[in-house]
Amino acid sequence: MEEDYVFKIVVIGDSAVGKTQLLGRFTRDEFFLDSKSTIGIEFQTRTVDIARRRVKAQIWDTAGQERYRAVTTAYYRGALGAVLVYDVTRRRTFDHAARWVDELRAHADKSIVVMLVGNKADLAAGRAVAADEAAAFAEEQGLFFSEASALSGENVERAFLRLLEEIHANVS
Ligand code: GDP
Repeated sequence: MEEDYVFKIVVIGDSAVGKTQLLGRFTRDEFFLDSKSTIGIEFQTRTVDIARRRVKAQIWDTAGQERYRAVTTAYYRGALGAVLVYDVTRRRTFDHAARWVDELRAHADKSIVVMLVGNKADLAAGRAVAADEAAAFAEEQGLFFSEASALSGENVERAFLRLLEEIHANVS
C-alpha cells in the first residue's frame, strides 16, 4: 500500500551509545550482537499507522561518522525528527547531548521534533545519569524524553511512535 507520508528521521549522539541497535530494534525488531553489521547502510524504513494514515519512517544512521564530527548538513537536510541518544551508563554521553542540540539548532530545520533517548536502561547497576535529570534537561530544551533499551526492546517502539505522532501532528 502507498504511504501517505514519508518522515525523515536522523539518529544522533556519541559513538557507541546504541544508535544502530535502536534503529535495528525499531525497524526489524532485531538486536545484533555483532553491532556494526549495518555499517554502510544509510537509512532503514518502517511503515506504521498514525492517526489512520500510513507513515513511512525513513530513519538515518550516522554509520560511525559521529566519531569524526563529520555529520554534515546533508544528513540533517529535510529531517522532520531526530532521535538524540545517550548511554545511561556513561555520563559523558549525556553531557554531550547539549552539543548535539546545538548541532541540530545550527543545521536542522527549526521545527524539527527531537526525542532524547537514554539508552541501555537494562544496565541498571551501571547507571550514571538519573532519569529525572535527563527529563529536566529535555523539558528545558523542548525535547521529548524516554529511557529505553535496544537490548530488551523496552520503550523503543513507544519512543519512536511518539516522535512520529508529534511530527504527524505538526504536518497535518
Ligand atoms: P552506535 O555507535 O551509537 O551506533 O552504537 P551501537 O548500536 O553500535 O552499540 C554500541 C554498543 O552498545 C554495542 O556493543 C551494543 O551491543 C551495545 N548496546 C546497544 N544498545 C544497548 C542496550 O540497550 N543495552 C545494552 N546493554 N547494550 C547495548
